[in-house]
Amino acid sequence: MDFNLNDEEKQYLDTVRRFVAREITPHVLNLDKGHVFPFEIIRKAWELGVMNLSVPENVKGYRIDAISSALIIRELSYGDSGIATSSMCNDLANIVVAMHGSDEQQKRFLNPFVNQALLASFCLTEPNAGSDNASMTTLMRKGNDGKYVLNGAKCFITNASYASQFTVFCKVGKPTSPFMACVIIPSLALEPETAELDPHSAREIPLPEGGRIITGKPEDKLGQRLSNTATVTFEDVPVDDSQIIGDRRLGFQYITDVLDYARPMVAAIGVGLARRALDVTLAYTRERRQFGERICDMPVARETLVAMWKKVELADMALMKAAFMIEDGSPEQGMYASLAKNLAAEAAIFCATEGLHLHGGYGFMAEYEISKLLRDAQIIDIYEGTREVQNMIIGRELI
Ligand SMILES: Cc1cc2nc3c(=O)[nH]c(=O)nc-3n(C[C@H](O)[C@H](O)[C@H](O)COP(=O)(O)OP(=O)(O)OC[C@H]3O[C@@H](n4cnc5c(N)ncnc54)[C@H](O)[C@@H]3O)c2cc1C
Repeated sequence: MDFNLNDEEKQYLDTVRRFVAREITPHVLNLDKGHVFPFEIIRKAWELGVMNLSVPENVKGYRIDAISSALIIRELSYGDSGIATSSMCNDLANIVVAMHGSDEQQKRFLNPFVNQALLASFCLTEPNAGSDNASMTTLMRKGNDGKYVLNGAKCFITNASYASQFTVFCKVGKPTSPFMACVIIPSLALEPETAELDPHSAREIPLPEGGRIITGKPEDKLGQRLSNTATVTFEDVPVDDSQIIGDRRLGFQYITDVLDYARPMVAAIGVGLARRALDVTLAYTRERRQFGERICDMPVARETLVAMWKKVELADMALMKAAFMIEDGSPEQGMYASLAKNLAAEAAIFCATEGLHLHGGYGFMAEYEISKLLRDAQIIDIYEGTREVQNMIIGRELI
């Protein structure tokens, strides 16, 4: 495994770092306070070409490898992990089309994201089916006319209020069916100019072919306030065969494929956040003096800074290894993706918690970024499979 970045990877790194320093870091605390979805910043990221990383070459015209993807997401997250979550969610939703869709489906469902700054949602979780997603009840079944109709409710869906397309996992035939399908439901194309959405309102979208999609009021969250999260309900939505990805019985396998790809990207979000927490804490403790010396020069404080640095570096190495294994097509990529996600979540929570402690009382004040980072870090250990779920995956592979 070669830790040297090639020229293309270095270029991505520099481009995203400059973008973050210019467009995100100076505004992030105000945006977070307002809890306003920064669609305009996401559009700028799209213009820069650092979104829709999984769209294949035959649709987009160029390829971004897993290592570059991890670097891009890590650096976006250094700016804000909510923005990174929302922009990376397009890949979470669309990678299944890239992996298992026909050429025609790839053109139809992926091209819009190349041509316009649109957002997609990945709809797996339900109120009673979280870690245990096989117990979902969203159902696609044939009506009297022999055509499929989709009904069901999903929750905690990233980008839901602004999504132009929904990737939905559902049971087929009856709720107790062992088969799960993956279907793509296009909706209205919403760009920053057209998305004049009341940030506190639900949205009802009647579909041209019949049925409707209802997105709930955006959730009021502890952290990652710059990503949008809402419920999505599908009511009598017709599903044509051309909207079903791959084999309509293999949805469960497709979820595994998607999450194996996406977990290192969540790890990248964790590493970006952890490094930011370390950097803001280093800056603060270099300035702040007590007992006549800088906080960073006090042995106990320095030990904490070293412990933070170690967590960041180890998580970053695990991230690079997981990305490398995806690139290499390794059969063990799922296990390493889970390892990277767990270590990154641990690093993010540790660095934000200890970082806040080293800020003393100031860290508890909203005007210091470390307090936001502590709120943001918590979700990294939960979404796309909790720590326990990652351990189950690792355990299964080991045994
Ligand atoms: C901000 C945010 C964004 C999200 N975005 C999306 C999205 O875009 N798309 C989507 O589909 N979902 C999304 N989710 C959902 C997320 O993936 C789930 O919340 C997560 O998988 C956990 O499911 P749950 O909340 O139902 O918790 P539960 O499954 O109820 O778990 C509760 C606790 O029990 C533990 N637990 C559960 N089962 C076991 C077990 N067998 N052994 C040991 N411990 C166990 C868990 O680890 C956890 O600590 C998002 C969630 C949030 C909060």
